[in-house]
Amino acid sequence: MSETATSEGLRQILYRIDGRGYKAYKDIAGTYRFADFTLTVDSVQGDPFAAPSRLRALIPRGVAALPERLYATRSRALGLSCFLARAFAAETSKRSTRRGSGKSGEIRIEAPGQQVLANTAVQVHDDGAVEARFTVGLPSQGRRVLGRQASELLLEALPRIVEDSLFAGSHADDELWLHAAANEDADALRSMLAERGLIAFIADGSILPRSSGVDDRPLGGEAVVAFKSPESLRVEFSLPHAGRVTGMGVAAGVTLIVGGGYHGKSTLLRAIERGVYNHRPGDGRELVVSTADLVKIRAEDGRAVSGVDISAFIGDLPLGKSTRSFSSDNASGSTSQAAAIVEAMESGAGGLLIDEDTAATNFLIRDARMQALVPKESEPITPFIDRVNQLYWEYEISTVLVVGGSGDYLDVADTVIAMETFRPHDVSARAGAVAAAHPTGRVNEVGTPFDVRIQRRPRPGSVDPRKGRRESSIRTRGIQTIQFGRETLDLFAVEQIVHWAQTRAIGAALDYASRRYIDGQRSLSEILDLVMVDIETEGLDVLERRRSGEFALFRRHELAAAFNRLRSLRT
Ligand code: ADP
Ligand code: MG
Repeated sequence: MSETATSEGLRQILYRIDGRGYKAYKDIAGTYRFADFTLTVDSVQGDPFAAPSRLRALIPRGVAALPERLYATRSRALGLSCFLARAFAAETSKRSTRRGSGKSGEIRIEAPGQQVLANTAVQVHDDGAVEARFTVGLPSQGRRVLGRQASELLLEALPRIVEDSLFAGSHADDELWLHAAANEDADALRSMLAERGLIAFIADGSILPRSSGVDDRPLGGEAVVAFKSPESLRVEFSLPHAGRVTGMGVAAGVTLIVGGGYHGKSTLLRAIERGVYNHRPGDGRELVVSTADLVKIRAEDGRAVSGVDISAFIGDLPLGKSTRSFSSDNASGSTSQAAAIVEAMESGAGGLLIDEDTAATNFLIRDARMQALVPKESEPITPFIDRVNQLYWEYEISTVLVVGGSGDYLDVADTVIAMETFRPHDVSARAGAVAAAHPTGRVNEVGTPFDVRIQRRPRPGSVDPRKGRRESSIRTRGIQTIQFGRETLDLFAVEQIVHWAQTRAIGAALDYASRRYIDGQRSLSEILDLVMVDIETEGLDVLERRRSGEFALFRRHELAAAFNRLRSLRT
């Protein structure tokens, strides 16, 4: 257990406890010097079927031997660390074989997927040292320690995994550099969008469609159509490593994506939505980059809403229910969508992304015939079409909207992109002509400025992770569900969460924020600021004392979305 124990010491403990009850494994907690790295056993599982033990390996700079230019900037180090984590994961699936009952013998790391996310699985430190955090199912037969198998696993297999994945010598130089450089290029591109008046860029040659609805890897095969910008929307950037790239710029303002069914509209929007993150080389979306503050908005009937001012979209409801501070345990499609927009404004969104596939029709549009049939006085909804330009003029919030079905939107669009067999065309001019030639006869229903109150103060105690006798009980199931104390938090509609390690970190951040910052005085946006700054300066470990290897960075918008969906939240 002493700080200076060696791997030989670990072997001796494992031999000594061989055949004893599983609890004897507690003896291996501690730090051990191996030939090439130090191994720390942070926590030991209580039995073979419990959550596996948590370990970490620290490889000093001299051993990892990564050339300094690979981690000279934060952005490069991040691209590199995601590559190393995936390499580690690939090695574990080769070498961690079942050794006994339950999860015995299983080594697992929470490697990032297609997106490059700051994470705690593998970190390349500023000094070039590499830290990997992973879990191990300590081998047993029934509840008896298999000490020899454990020794083989930790002293033979693990050092091979570490060497073959985390040492520079195990990879081609140019492959390592590719991952570092590609990430830096994507960051550079994102930082140049605003000055060019853009909210997104899709490089020529990008591959947007995904393998399937549950597989985020690129669609392969002959039928895939690579992206090609229309001439009139083509812009050019010069990137630090890739040099000159061209592609379609999506300008700030109101952009419409139109076209027939199955022509690639949603696929384009989804790529823009994911462009808030960088992607790994080979993904097809390496140079599909959006400004970091675009937020996907959708209808979500049944969700809870707490004290949101949706009066800009929804006037007084039947039975005199006010909408200046709207709360509901069971919002409708349109009220949930209105709430999502105001909540996104509160978290600082710079643009909204809306797909007709997941929007409430009555929220998007009320056409001339419906206006004639149902008078404005008996319709509480001011449709989005009548607010979308105001959102941009008064708040500088852009919108990208997929609408195949409603031509009324042609009147309010700055740019209209038509998808045809997966190819975009700029039809803005034609759309303007069509709009002029076919007046819709509908009248704008807005008589008021876009005035919203977005200063909600969460009440202490309303974000409560306690359950039974436990001070804090937070469990994550998949990407979409957090069991937060006694409440089940459903995040299925928060579509820009892309990895369950983000979901885990969001669960921990809710707890962190409630302990530290929710005092009844601070506004939600101040609380978001404080949490994000803490993570920025101290890393994701600030969220939890035990060093989790299963956290990935999220945006403030997704943390806000989680707060907003807590049924217990009171403001
Ligand atoms: P829409 O929203 O216009 O109805 P989708 O974006 O849902 O269409 O695309 C329809 C189908 O076409 C999806 O299965 C998608 O994966 C596939 N697809 C989208 N873009 C491409 C492309 N560039 N090349 C090949 N298939 C694509
Ligand atoms: Mg669609």
